[in-house]
Amino acid sequence: MPGTSMHASIEAGLRRPWHRLGLPPALETQYRAETSRRSGFYVQSWLAVFALFNVLSLVMDHDVFGPEAFHVPLVLTMGVFCPVALLAILSLRGHPTVLRMTGAALATVLVDIAVVLNSARLAPAPHGDAYIVLAALVPLVVGLIAPMPFRHAIAYCTASLALYAGLILAFGLAGPGNAGLPLLVSGLILVPLKLSYSREWEAKTTFLLGLRDKLQAEALARANARLTILSETDSLTTLANRRHFSERLERTWQEAGEANGWLGVLLVDIDHFKRFNDTAGHQAGDEALVAVAGALGAAIEARGGLAARYGGEEFVAFLPGADLGGSAEAGEAVRSAVARLALPHPGLPRGATLAVSVGVTAAHGPTRGFGVAARDLLKAADLALYAAKAEGRDRVAALGTAANTNRLAAGGSAAADAP
Ligand code: GH3
Ligand code: MG
Ligand code: MG
Repeated sequence: MPGTSMHASIEAGLRRPWHRLGLPPALETQYRAETSRRSGFYVQSWLAVFALFNVLSLVMDHDVFGPEAFHVPLVLTMGVFCPVALLAILSLRGHPTVLRMTGAALATVLVDIAVVLNSARLAPAPHGDAYIVLAALVPLVVGLIAPMPFRHAIAYCTASLALYAGLILAFGLAGPGNAGLPLLVSGLILVPLKLSYSREWEAKTTFLLGLRDKLQAEALARANARLTILSETDSLTTLANRRHFSERLERTWQEAGEANGWLGVLLVDIDHFKRFNDTAGHQAGDEALVAVAGALGAAIEARGGLAARYGGEEFVAFLPGADLGGSAEAGEAVRSAVARLALPHPGLPRGATLAVSVGVTAAHGPTRGFGVAARDLLKAADLALYAAKAEGRDRVAALGTAANTNRLAAGGSAAADAP
């Protein structure tokens, strides 16, 4: 079911009146699937208590029947009722279906009703009445204990009542003038109906509330994931944005320090882009930015790095494990990938295509210990880029961070340099 209609069904289910037990069809199916099996232990343990109670009632049988006739209830209880109850308990091992639970409860109860009403038939007056009441209490108690769905409770109560009434009549226990008691107590057999109805109504409401919470949590997680992506992505080019790049660069530089590895940084700037924009138009400029970002991103990703839009028509990338030579090679791969796009540059003399200048640097992780920070790599790459522009654009210039620092201190101009 799609999210919104599922949501509407849940709300409709939660608003249903007390007399409507069924949920909207798809939810009803899901509810039944999720509640069709339960731990059998709960009903098993209660049936065991119930069976024990029947065994203990043999004391009463002994008092009522006396030593001569006691063998009748004894044989029926130990020879018929107890084996049936034991089989019922054994059938509920593990996670039985609710149908099996109802079946086990019903089988136990029907046998017990027959045994107890048989005692009512045979017991000397005035003890018959006690057995008549006891026989009605049997389905009442088990019906209250077993967590049956309402539809099962209807079958359970109907079958119990039918057997109870049938045996009362068959055994002649409700003759003229003494029908009041069986009639009164037989009403008890219907009590589990009300309880199972309320129980199912509550269980379904809890199910719907749980489902609603789950859906809301999932929607929130999806929205959060989307927000995270949005907060890390440049909307035009879909590359990482500057903030995300800076965070990742910091972390990766730290890792390079810990792992004794190299880290390369590239700054990429489109050549004469203002003129491109001014002649081709802003829209075409945007499209060119997207195309350049695509070529750059592919080249960097292929080398296991991260590329980002640094701002305007400038891009930045880092390459874990790349020394200055490897970074320069990656810079050349980026430059030639953009050249291969062969985007005509209408602001330059005929036949010219869009090109980029690339400044690269690299530093060895342990130099973090001497105070080289991630921003120093960016500074060095920027100086290298400046050099690439100064040397005529559409090229790659490389500059190591140590040389960069020296040159900055000396106030000299940047130029391509070895590490
Ligand atoms: P250089 O070769 O020295 O880099 O020259 P340039 O013209 O590329 O550099 P400059 O910094 O003078 O111009 C950058 C231009 O990039 C200015 C602006 O028109 C354009 N630009 C920046 N951001 C965007 C953008 O999001 N979309 C478009 N279409 N143009 C942009
Ligand atoms: Mg530029
Ligand atoms: Mg620029």
